[in-house]
Amino acid sequence: MTVVNATSIDEVVDALRRLPQARLLQGGTDVMVEINLNRAGAGDVIALRQVSELRRWYVDEESRTLHLGAGVPYAELERSPLCNLLPALAEAARTVGSPQIRAAGSLGGNLGTCSPAGDGLPVLSAYDAMVHLRNADGSRQMSIHDFMVGVKRNASAADELITGISMQLTRGFQGYAKVGTRNAMVISVASACLVHDSERGSIRVAFGAVAPTIVRARNAEAWLAENVELVGAIDVSGRLAREFGERAATECTPIDDHRSTAAYRRHAVSVLAERLLLRAATPNTTGNRAS
Ligand SMILES: Cc1cc2nc3c(=O)[nH]c(=O)nc-3n(C[C@H](O)[C@H](O)[C@H](O)COP(=O)(O)OP(=O)(O)OC[C@H]3O[C@@H](n4cnc5c(N)ncnc54)[C@H](O)[C@@H]3O)c2cc1C
Repeated sequence: MTVVNATSIDEVVDALRRLPQARLLQGGTDVMVEINLNRAGAGDVIALRQVSELRRWYVDEESRTLHLGAGVPYAELERSPLCNLLPALAEAARTVGSPQIRAAGSLGGNLGTCSPAGDGLPVLSAYDAMVHLRNADGSRQMSIHDFMVGVKRNASAADELITGISMQLTRGFQGYAKVGTRNAMVISVASACLVHDSERGSIRVAFGAVAPTIVRARNAEAWLAENVELVGAIDVSGRLAREFGERAATECTPIDDHRSTAAYRRHAVSVLAERLLLRAATPNTTGNRAS
């Protein structure tokens, strides 16, 4: 067993070329569970903790694009200044595990595991984020929608490192909500993220834990755009919000499992989407307006 304590992205990529079967370890909050449950052998490991490049973030002011290193921990996402730029991601980060898990866990690890219940993933879908990958041959980027291909499956190659995620910053409400079997330390039974781009006039809504991978409710989004003026502040009635939630829920394909039933999950996302839309239309939800 070889353990590589990489200190740069170049070192990681070089180690991946030599050891393509090695396991990448960022916060270890998924990897260690797998090892402790004997679902994964203790093979070669490339530790990312000391790769400071993976923990950086910056905004390209010209394109208003935020670039986030794959190793930025949830604890940083939930605090200022990132929480003001990406309020929905901050809300999702605050729901992940406990403070200890949030200090170690990262979006790179959430993407690496690619569970349909991963709390960061509906947010990245609603942001239309790009995933940045690198191996010894070079870099590439792909849409989050192409990256997530199934239950715990993503489109990265064995020798690729997720270096980061980028997303266009928007102005307007954005929010995340999750239903679980209790209020904290819980994996989602159903989750939803809604982003209002008040400049371009769109609302994007994505759901977690209600299909093999994250669902974008594109038909409901299109229906809403036909029925509501989405540039600037929005105005929706309770009835319209309910219909939006019901339409969005029909785009999910949930299953019965040990956490919940398909029927409850469908009901839950319908209510979550309805409430998020009503929050988007409420002028005093200032804490959730991206700045
Ligand atoms: C008690 C507990 C509670 C939890 N609660 C939640 C919760 O509420 N919501 C939630 O979404 N998750 C939860 N999790 C799961 C976990 O914390 C998250 O999925 C987290 O995002 C994983 O990040 P990490 O950095 O620890 O990943 P790691 O465990 O280090 O890695 C996870 C996977 O991603 C791969 N990987 C890591 N970094 C990269 C990279 N840069 N490039 C390519 N592959 C990479 C690894 O090889 C591995 O396959 C919980 C876990 C525990 C133990």
